[in-house]
Amino acid sequence: MSRTVYINGEFVPESEAKISIMDRGYLFADGVYEVSAVINGKMIDNEGHLRRLERSLGELDLRSPLSNHEIEGVQNELIERNGLKEGIIYLQITRGVAERDFLWPEDISPTLTMFTQAKNLLQSPLATKGASIITVPDIRWQRRDIKSIALLPQAMAKHAARKAGANDAWMVDNGYVTEGTSTNAFIVTMEGTLVTRDLSTDILHGITRSAVLRLAEEAELPIEERSFTPQEAYDAAEVFATGSSFFVLPVVEIDGHIISNRAPGPLTNRLREMYIEMATN
Ligand code: PLP
Repeated sequence: MSRTVYINGEFVPESEAKISIMDRGYLFADGVYEVSAVINGKMIDNEGHLRRLERSLGELDLRSPLSNHEIEGVQNELIERNGLKEGIIYLQITRGVAERDFLWPEDISPTLTMFTQAKNLLQSPLATKGASIITVPDIRWQRRDIKSIALLPQAMAKHAARKAGANDAWMVDNGYVTEGTSTNAFIVTMEGTLVTRDLSTDILHGITRSAVLRLAEEAELPIEERSFTPQEAYDAAEVFATGSSFFVLPVVEIDGHIISNRAPGPLTNRLREMYIEMATN
């Protein structure tokens, strides 16, 4: 059975969804996206994702064809039509179709597409085992706070990780970890302090990152929002990553250094449980 997708106001079988080769998303990566997790047919933290979408669009002077309320209606209908219980819903807004030119026409209409993907998020084998990662130079642009569809550096970083036999890559800029290819980076120091990079234009303001920090604060765990080096991660008691498709993902190896005896750490497991508890209630 073919998946139903959404394109500019219509729900159609995936094979019938067509985009012009003049779409600026295709020609210039001129667009933004959001990914929300779905558990038991319900989206997790979707308001946060739609708020970030609004911000990304605003930073690029790109307008949404629908209000957030209307987008949420479409998302729920697509989840329903595909009978999605567990997985993700992806949405993308590009500036739209115009003759190729760096400058776009003022009256251009944006392209809005959405699709669902079924995935095991709760019982993920990687979360049970823990991920191995490598570090790579962060070669991205300087507005990483905008959730741009220009993801070639992340795709290349992930490709480098696979070639090195690892699951993912963390990117390093000026000697400090910025973030993972599709996650925010956390360490737990030997003293038990949770450390994650502070918010700026250097990283994506992860919705899962915020939720985990909120949970950690409620649990009165010591938190420091600051940059950390790969060496601090090698020496950490625990390491993990956060993201909508991963929740809290334990990291057990970085650049060949074994973390917490190659097993997910206790605080990491606790935060993963707390996050899942929050998300499923
Ligand atoms: N950092 C980057 C570069 C990402 O692409 C993502 C998600 O795709 C994240 C962090 C995690 O963000 P969120 O928790 O909102 O999914």
